[in-house]
Amino acid sequence: MSTNDVVIIGGGPAGLAAALTLGRAHRRVLLLDAGHGRNAPAEAVHNFLTRDGTPPAALRELAREELSAYPSVEIREETVIDVRPGFRVELSGGGTAGARRLLLATGLSDDLPGPPGAEALWGRSAFHCPYCHGWEVTGRPVAVIGASPARVRLALQLSRFADVALCTGREPLDPASRAKLLAHGVTVRDERIARLEATGGQLERIVFEDGPPLPRQAVFVVNVARRHETDLAALLGCATFTDGCVEVNEFGRTSVPGVYAAGDTARRATVPVPLAAVIAAAASGTVAGAAIDQDLLSADFGLPAFAAPKG
Ligand SMILES: Cc1cc2nc3c(=O)[nH]c(=O)nc-3n(C[C@H](O)[C@H](O)[C@H](O)COP(=O)(O)OP(=O)(O)OC[C@H]3O[C@@H](n4cnc5c(N)ncnc54)[C@H](O)[C@@H]3O)c2cc1C
Repeated sequence: MSTNDVVIIGGGPAGLAAALTLGRAHRRVLLLDAGHGRNAPAEAVHNFLTRDGTPPAALRELAREELSAYPSVEIREETVIDVRPGFRVELSGGGTAGARRLLLATGLSDDLPGPPGAEALWGRSAFHCPYCHGWEVTGRPVAVIGASPARVRLALQLSRFADVALCTGREPLDPASRAKLLAHGVTVRDERIARLEATGGQLERIVFEDGPPLPRQAVFVVNVARRHETDLAALLGCATFTDGCVEVNEFGRTSVPGVYAAGDTARRATVPVPLAAVIAAAASGTVAGAAIDQDLLSADFGLPAFAAPKG
């Protein structure tokens, strides 16, 4: 028999925010978290109003402290390894837990295709997002790796306030983009990249297979975001996009009744990429939490389903 109103899988900003909303609505919530958020390697969370500069772990700790005021919310350090319709989740520690509704707030993880040395600097001096770390490179020598239109755009964006080099790594760069970059003071290096060299987690230079090294203090690399190994959305049969995100509506509802998703792992069809930001993840968790509460109200009081007004 289900003991919880809701099981939340994932204790990042999305899951924690949903737990707060549901705890305040006197829902019995079990939040299960494997413990490693997407931004864990970073020194600080930026671009979060009132918490700009807070270390990621400290932000989670603050959230857990707040949640401790709501006795119907239980948090456990456990990894969900399987999930069945109904809903029953199986935990890595051997236990199981049941719930009337499920929220997937499992985030995404990042693969870094290169260059060699980027992994060790990820979140410290190898970045991907200009809104998370653009301010931190103000006035400093930085590099953008790649030559696609998105990389050219990022180089131009950063050139407004940093000394930027675009390192194509031999990817073709169209002549119009090259001319535009040069016109805006962006250096272009076309050699194949051998590795990033750093001291104490701090990038010092980019070493090429031929040609002189390029002194840089930060680099913006390409990251490929993907769902975690245990693909809970697939086990549940939720509709997903080719980029790995779970398809949700404006209230975080997935294609499977009773299953909701929030944070980086979820997006609407009208949004081309996940809105990967801590404050956006928290906001979507809040919305999904309220939608789940409304869903349970409809079930318990025989009310019509909560839906967006037409038109
Ligand atoms: C290097 C880096 C730096 C970043 N810096 C910033 C920044 O400065 N500002 C900003 O706004 N955004 C930043 N971001 C983006 C930000 O990290 C994400 O948008 C945010 O963490 C998404 O929150 P979430 O709750 O969806 O997922 P996450 O924070 O990733 O949390 C998901 C949680 O689910 C858990 N989990 C996954 N699978 C399971 C399972 N099977 N069972 C139990 N638990 C599970 C994970 O362990 C994790 O704790 C950064 C991202 C990266 C990669």
